[in-house]
Amino acid sequence: MPGISLSAEVRQFASAPSALFIDGVFARGSGDPLTLLDPATEEAIARFPEASPADVERVVASADQAFRDRRWTGLRPADRERILLQFANLVEQHGEELAQLETWNQGKSIAIARAVDVGASVEYMRYIAGLATKTTGLTLDLSIPVVPGGRYHAYTRPEPVGVVAAIAPWNFPMMIALWKVMPALAAGCTVVLKPSEFTPLSALRLAELAIEAGVPAGVFNVAVGRGATTGTALVGHPAVAKVSFTGSTATGKQIGRAAIDRMARFSLELGGKNPAIVLADADPARIAPGLLGAAFLNSGQVCASLSRIYVERPAYEGLLEALREAVKAMTIGPGLDPAMQINPLVSAQHRDRVRERIREAGAAGATAISGAAVPSSGFYVSPTLVTGAGSDAAIQREEVFGPVLSVTPVDNADAAVQLANDSPYGLVASIWSNDLSRTMDLIPRIEAGTVYVNTHVPVDPNLPFGGYKQSGLGRDFGPDALAPYTEIKSVCVAY
Ligand code: NAD
Repeated sequence: MPGISLSAEVRQFASAPSALFIDGVFARGSGDPLTLLDPATEEAIARFPEASPADVERVVASADQAFRDRRWTGLRPADRERILLQFANLVEQHGEELAQLETWNQGKSIAIARAVDVGASVEYMRYIAGLATKTTGLTLDLSIPVVPGGRYHAYTRPEPVGVVAAIAPWNFPMMIALWKVMPALAAGCTVVLKPSEFTPLSALRLAELAIEAGVPAGVFNVAVGRGATTGTALVGHPAVAKVSFTGSTATGKQIGRAAIDRMARFSLELGGKNPAIVLADADPARIAPGLLGAAFLNSGQVCASLSRIYVERPAYEGLLEALREAVKAMTIGPGLDPAMQINPLVSAQHRDRVRERIREAGAAGATAISGAAVPSSGFYVSPTLVTGAGSDAAIQREEVFGPVLSVTPVDNADAAVQLANDSPYGLVASIWSNDLSRTMDLIPRIEAGTVYVNTHVPVDPNLPFGGYKQSGLGRDFGPDALAPYTEIKSVCVAY
């Protein structure tokens, strides 16, 4: 097979994983067996028992004890920052190992794993580490009339919320785990990370590196297991003060309900059905690569993936032709071969779900234009363009999370905005045009947490990210990235 070979250290690490990282060491879970598969070959990578509810009890107790004795919270902010910067250095130093673990376990391109899962994560880690020394509150003038002549000094102080349950999905397993673990740690919280049961290997390695960097034992723990068992036990645990969740909207709603029952704080980064609006002036040849990258990055398994294009009629035929040519030419193969543009999806179930969506679209009268044939083993779906899908078709309304992109002509930008917003989701959207005034008019009308212009998908630690409507609650990133991991204490001093 062309492409790179897995290193001995990666094979060694994956050979006998543990479901638990607790008090700074690995421990065996006592739950049901879990099998990790290589999505490119369908072969087993490892088998081990998941974390049972009793194991979750232990792991949360460890994080709770670490929070209460202030072994992390009580450090000077500069010491937390220094340790978290060292954590970033170790992730960078072990970057190739982490990228290989991610590709082996998730199926993604090694080129993406190196550049995004590792490269972008390290930059994100450094940005967030720096926020540990930059928390601020307010001083406030008060006018309390009750005691004549009374004088008051009032201020607010952000304080770490407590034990954070960080629940991550399988599409960017390490990167999205870090989107939670880093701000929680920078804010002074302790963490239990539950990675996806499909892709836990990089999370386990991260926890080891955090300890090596100087994060005290018990501050960053991991519990691996299925959502219904390990995840439910974690979200329902009374000592978990905050749940930070990234995943599907359906699961996010369940988690929100469970959290609100005991007033645990929660933030939700959920699914998307992200549209692009292409205005008539856009040059199809110039914009096609950007649109394709947005739709097919990580084989479409990106929350911000482009999934619906609405294009003004004069540009439609030219754009469709450019996209069709490119999709037909896309290379399909294992992630360990960096030349492959489309890689296997994470699991057989997910592959079957995506194929079913394409089949349903055809049955509903749409046309599917697929790329090259897929390899005979592995969880592949050929990249597919869909045309002629009605606005009520499932392919236009439901998140597919695979390499599928619909293209629809519209009469004008008003129709495009109406269709773009006709969705329960509102994560990201993009506008493709060089007509500045038309573009600027559209931006405020689009219901999405991020609106891109002439690009679609990139995230940056300094740019807040999150969804409108059913795409989530709260924002990650940006200068206020630690806020969701804090409580605001108001202090009023009479003197
Ligand atoms: P998922 O909702 O199935 O699972 C996400 C995580 O939640 C996993 O760790 C899973 O084990 C856990 N889980 C499932 N049920 C649970 C429960 N009842 N209690 C506690 N934990 C539970 O999502 P997925 O299939 O892993 O990921 C794909 C989804 O994630 C897509 O919908 C995608 O759009 C979304 N996503 C969103 C963002 C974002 O930032 N908005 C980023 C990446 C992925």
